[in-house]
Amino acid sequence: MKSFIYLCISMIIFSLVLSGCGTGENKQESEEKSEDKKIQVYATIFPLKDFTEKIGGKHVEVKSVYPANVDAHSYEPTLKELKSMADADMFIYNGAGFEGFSDKVSEMLKSEDVTVVKATEGMDLGHENEAAHSEEEHGHEEEAHSEEQHHDHGDTDPHVWIDPVLSIELAHTIKDALVKEDPAHKETYEENYKKVEAELKKVDQEFAKIVNESKQKHVLVSHAAYGYWEERYGIKQIAIAGLSPTQEPSQKQLKEIIEQSKKHDVKYILFEQNVSSTVADIIQTEIGAKPLSLHNLESVTKEDINNKEDYFSIMRKNIQAIKTALSGK
Ligand SMILES: [Zn+2]
Repeated sequence: MKSFIYLCISMIIFSLVLSGCGTGENKQESEEKSEDKKIQVYATIFPLKDFTEKIGGKHVEVKSVYPANVDAHSYEPTLKELKSMADADMFIYNGAGFEGFSDKVSEMLKSEDVTVVKATEGMDLGHENEAAHSEEEHGHEEEAHSEEQHHDHGDTDPHVWIDPVLSIELAHTIKDALVKEDPAHKETYEENYKKVEAELKKVDQEFAKIVNESKQKHVLVSHAAYGYWEERYGIKQIAIAGLSPTQEPSQKQLKEIIEQSKKHDVKYILFEQNVSSTVADIIQTEIGAKPLSLHNLESVTKEDINNKEDYFSIMRKNIQAIKTALSGK
């Protein structure tokens, strides 16, 4: 709540600053594009930044809204960052309730002539967790149901990028936005998009193969970011925190998580790159699980940046981690 008030105050100062110094005018001048002027883009979650760079190639310059390692669910841009975003040409965000700041900021940016792109626009979101669970957990309906309530809160799951097939739709929306912004390079954007699409299809096949070859289907993860893998690949996530890492489990839920993990003979616990959780440490000790790393791609670490990781390299590491987690050894 405190941070929300802070954001509101930032917004007010932000609009005062902008109206005071006539940034709008300067911007129009600079928008008369010379042939090699790059489209300046701000993107939120890492996959959107990566896809935009891959599709836009040399015609775009993409900056991340999120600094390295942050909890992307709760991060809010500073006043300085908001000003830089207002000077950009395009703002790309996930939507579906992921970025808490996006609705207010989007309106503000639109009034500054920034093209605002909601990557999940028009996507059919939400998955049938409930159906999958009741099938699997018949005889334990009550148990499964209370777990469900904790993890879903009736909200839409915003973690669509975790599914390579849904990521094709995200990439497609980005491609369309770039073509609209800069029709002169339509052909390049279309070509680059095709490459991204082909690679995403490959990752999907690699993922499906790993899961199909495994008897074990349950994975224990630090927050419920993997619901779309349940639907796509039949993986069952036992999540410690809810859709957002700040939704920590109650005592009762903690007990259920431990029971579920034991029942399904879970041997590994998957820690995420930007989530630290004492509860997860407690559960690890309680069930004697071995630790593995899983990357939710929400924000990247400094190491990822240094190693020039991209969506595909990170997803392939995730597939290997899942392979180990499902090995049951
Ligand atoms: Zn998340």
